[in-house]
Amino acid sequence: MPIVVQKYGGSSVADIGKLRSVADQVARTRAAGNDVVVVVSAMGKTTDNLLGLAREAALPPDASVAGGSAPPEPAKRELDMLLSTGERVSMSLLSIAIHARGLDAVSFTGSQSGIITNDRHFDARIIEVRPHRIEDELARGRIVIVAGYQGMSYKREITTLGRGGSDTTAVALAAALGAERCEIYSDVDGVYSADPRIVPDARHLPELDYETMQEMAECGAKVLNAQAVEWARRHKVAIIARKTGDVAGRPGVRETVVSNETSADGSRRAVVVQKNLALVCAERSAAARLAAVAERMSLPFGDLTLGPRELVAWTPLLNVPNWGEVRAELEAASLNGLSVREGHGLLSLVGVEVGLPSVVGAALACLDATPELVFSHPLRLSCVLPDAALDAAARVWHERLGPCAGAADRLTA
Ligand code: ASP
Ligand code: MG
Repeated sequence: MPIVVQKYGGSSVADIGKLRSVADQVARTRAAGNDVVVVVSAMGKTTDNLLGLAREAALPPDASVAGGSAPPEPAKRELDMLLSTGERVSMSLLSIAIHARGLDAVSFTGSQSGIITNDRHFDARIIEVRPHRIEDELARGRIVIVAGYQGMSYKREITTLGRGGSDTTAVALAAALGAERCEIYSDVDGVYSADPRIVPDARHLPELDYETMQEMAECGAKVLNAQAVEWARRHKVAIIARKTGDVAGRPGVRETVVSNETSADGSRRAVVVQKNLALVCAERSAAARLAAVAERMSLPFGDLTLGPRELVAWTPLLNVPNWGEVRAELEAASLNGLSVREGHGLLSLVGVEVGLPSVVGAALACLDATPELVFSHPLRLSCVLPDAALDAAARVWHERLGPCAGAADRLTA
C-alpha cells in the first residue's frame, strides 16, 4: 500500500471538535487504501501558553530582587521537556478518536519514532531518522500518529525542532519512509504571494519550486517551515499544502504543490514579512569576539555583512527564548561600538532577478520609511525596517513589485 504522510497544524486540532474532524479525514484516507502516518502539532496556542507558564515559573521567589535587570529565563533543556508535551496531548487524543471510528491506531513521541537530533535545545536539527517502530506498526495494519516538533538528541535528551517544527517532522518521516509526498494541512489553502492577513490582494500560488519556497520560509513566511522545505528539496519529497477538510480535486478546492516539477520563473514573486528581530552592529575589529559569543549562545544570524569599518547583522528572535541572557552576554563582551536594537523586522521580495539594479531602485523608491539595512541576493531582496512600518511597506511592495504589478521593472529587466 502507498504510504501517505499527513501533518495537521495547531489550528486544525485546536479543540476536540476539530480533532474529531481530523480523525474523520484520516479515516477517509485510510479507507482509500493507504498506509497512513499522521504528524500533529500542539492544540491551538498550547506552545505559547506553556512558554508563558515557564517564564512565570522562572521568576525569582522575591520579585523585588529582579528590580530593573532583565527577568531570569528558563533553561532551554527544561523548556524542551515542557513544550514537547503539547504535541503528546494531540497525538494521544487523535489516536483515541481514531479508535472510536473502529480503526486501529497507535501514537508515538518523536523519540519513539526514531527522530535523532543534535543537542541544540529549543532549535535542534534532525540528524537521522530511524523509523523502525513506525514501519512495524504500519505492517500490522495500524495508523501511526506521531507527535511533531520533537526528537531525541544523541545524548538521549528530549529536544524540540524550533517553532513551526512539526512540518519538519512530517517531511523527514515522509523521506525516511519512502513516501513520495507529504501533505501539510492548516487553516489556509496553500501558499500565497504574501500573508493575506497583511496584504489582502495576495495571490494564491498553485505551484512552487523548492528554491523559491525555501527562500520565502527562510526570510519568515510561516506557512511552511524552512527546515522542512530544505529536507523536502534534498530528499525530493513533494509538499502539498492544503486546508484541513478540503478534498483534493473537488471543484473550487485549491492547494499548493512544492516540488521539482516546477522551476523558478520570473512571474512568481512573493513579499514576505518577518517581525521580531534584533539588529546587531559593531566595529569590524569586534567581529571575531562577536562570533565567539554567538557560537557559545547558539545565536542564529540572518544576513551578516562586514564592511571596511563595521559589522551589521540581523538575528531572528523567534527561536531565542533566552534573548535577555544572550543580549547581556553580548554587552558584557566589551565589543567595540556594539549596538543592539530590537523592534525591527525584515521585509523581503522573493523571486528570480529581484537583485537587479532596476528592481532594487524601484523597491527603495516606493518605501516611505528609510530602511536600516538592505541586502540583495539572487532570489531575495530584503530590507530591515522598524516593526511599525512593515505591514504598510509590504502592501506597497506587493502592489508595485509583486505578482500583480504592472511589471514596469520587468520590461527593463
Ligand atoms: N507547536 C509548535 C509551535 O507552536 C510546533 C508546530 O506547531 O509546528 O511552534
Ligand atoms: Mg506551521
